[in-house]
Amino acid sequence: MRKYVIMGVQGSGKGTQSQLLSADLDIVHISVGDIFRWNVQNHTKMGAYVRRTMAAGELVSDDLVESVVRDRLTGHDWNYGFIIDGFPRNRAQAEFFLESYDIDGVIVLDLPDSEVRRRVLNRRVCQNCGMNYNLLDNSPTVPGQCDMCGAELATREDDTEEALAVRLRDYHEKTNPVLDVFRRKEYVITVDARPAPEVVQADIREQLGLPPFKSDGPAPEGSAVA
Ligand code: AMP
Repeated sequence: MRKYVIMGVQGSGKGTQSQLLSADLDIVHISVGDIFRWNVQNHTKMGAYVRRTMAAGELVSDDLVESVVRDRLTGHDWNYGFIIDGFPRNRAQAEFFLESYDIDGVIVLDLPDSEVRRRVLNRRVCQNCGMNYNLLDNSPTVPGQCDMCGAELATREDDTEEALAVRLRDYHEKTNPVLDVFRRKEYVITVDARPAPEVVQADIREQLGLPPFKSDGPAPEGSAVA
């Protein structure tokens, strides 16, 4: 059983790297942000509550996040392990998490703010299948339309200059305390997130002592900006 946490600011490729790792190791990818987005799209009670918070780039309350994570992990479809993305985001969440789970590795994707801005402000997401595009490096064949399913592409509601500035500030303020908590017990690796996704994946595996990445498999769902 393998249990990993992946951390990094928006646009650092957490989703893409998690998918590459989870598909190969047969572990479950849990994205807390995706769980919230699902609730917003499906107009649940929780969705109504978190929508504005997310759109402003602010963090949802620890109590709610912790109960979402607890529910998801007690669902137990992760016999071979999991990789959790977007959690923990602050010291309180990290301490809550470590009370219940031993983690085998914490992967930190490191990306300069200037590159984050470039990736996030050019990100487009398929409204239907969730595929990510980047208008600079990975644009769809037909502008505004998903290559996979043909549905319309949109900008994430929180991918604006204002929300990004809040998220970057929050990330920098809160990440180091989280890493301090993890470093006390866990194995933390830092990976340069600037190269192509396959290169980043190879680096993650080497640092975690996992078998090498074979890039001939199916393309990951989403792209370098997930
Ligand atoms: P993400 O896709 O990880 O960027 O998450 C999108 C949004 O969901 C964030 O901007 C927050 O509003 C909320 N969110 C996701 N994970 C957390 C967390 N661990 N703590 C608080 N809010 C979160």
